[in-house]
Amino acid sequence: MNTQRIALVTGANKGIGLEIARQLAQAGVHVLIGARDEDRGRAAVADLARDGLAAQVLRLDVTDAASIAAAALSIRNEHGRLDILVNNAGIFDPTDGPPGQASMTAVRQVFETNFFGALAVTQAMLPLLRDAPAARVVNVSSSLGSLTLNGDPSSTYYSAQYIGYNASKAALNMLTVQLREELRGTSIVVNSVSPGFVKTDLTGYGTMTPAEGAKLPVQHALGGEDNGVFVEPGGTTPW
Ligand code: NDP
Repeated sequence: MNTQRIALVTGANKGIGLEIARQLAQAGVHVLIGARDEDRGRAAVADLARDGLAAQVLRLDVTDAASIAAAALSIRNEHGRLDILVNNAGIFDPTDGPPGQASMTAVRQVFETNFFGALAVTQAMLPLLRDAPAARVVNVSSSLGSLTLNGDPSSTYYSAQYIGYNASKAALNMLTVQLREELRGTSIVVNSVSPGFVKTDLTGYGTMTPAEGAKLPVQHALGGEDNGVFVEPGGTTPW
């Protein structure tokens, strides 16, 4: 068996996902750059190639069941297993808002990508993860998904600003906890990782670069003792 680890990073054509892909490739992992637009995926592969890193595009729209099934089949045929799944693809919608005012369409769309997308991709990839000797799932969450911090006035994440985004990450965290329990006794571990506050197209501003934001997700993708935890740079985050 080829011992080089195989990783799929969803939404890896830009932002934190692209840097996760770059750092995994630097660590010697064979990276599949999940991209809903193949041209944007190819541009990301070219970007990594300029650093002397090899990666492969995998067309994957996490909201499209046919696209997910085709991606899983392609990984099965080409690699036979998946060692690392990083559920990174995510959106924020500016018409999201406080519970009393948010656009229902926006809330549904945000859930479609941030929660249902991650759940559907994970379901489709589970047989491939089970066929890896020791697999890891990293759910790229947000401290804004912490129920505890949202309701704590002393927290920087105290917020009643975005019901769709924050609730979608809380739901993603529930996926982490339930998967941990469902997969207990297997060699698959799963964690929720908040990258920090990162300047990307999603946020428009932030205190960290995408490369800095990729560090913790990559650390958890590559190893560690944690299973079923919620972490951010600096430590554990309350659920
Ligand atoms: P970006 O907007 O830079 O990147 C988001 C990525 O997700 C893009 O590659 C985008 O592709 C992809 N994507 C969106 N929808 C889909 C879809 N349906 N199928 C496949 N890919 C899709 O954002 P970030 O890098 O900031 O965000 C990455 C993750 O990190 C998200 O889950 C976000 O919630 C999370 N996060 C970010 C924080 C931050 O401070 N930036 C803080 C906490 C969490 P395309 O180019 O085609 O749109």
